[in-house]
Amino acid sequence: MARKKHRVVVKSELCKGCDLCIVYCKKGVLASSEDLNKAGYHYASPDDSKECTGCMVCVLVCPEVAIEVYGE
Ligand code: SF4
Ligand code: SF4
Repeated sequence: MARKKHRVVVKSELCKGCDLCIVYCKKGVLASSEDLNKAGYHYASPDDSKECTGCMVCVLVCPEVAIEVYGE
């Protein structure tokens, strides 16, 4: 059976750039963007070339509820 793929989406305007999701993602999917959001934070951004396992850790640690993970 094929493994389910997951896609992580960061709502960049909600992100405060705390980097918690980046630290806790064991797969290195999330990185700090070079760009700033409207509030002036370097928001977290997913690297789609890395494999998200759908573990939901990033969703759980984000204090701003800025992350959603979808199974595809
Ligand atoms: S769901 Fe898990 S693997 Fe996917 S980006 Fe979040 S912490 Fe990383
Ligand atoms: S945990 Fe949430 S607020 Fe912190 S960098 Fe990640 S998406 Fe942004």
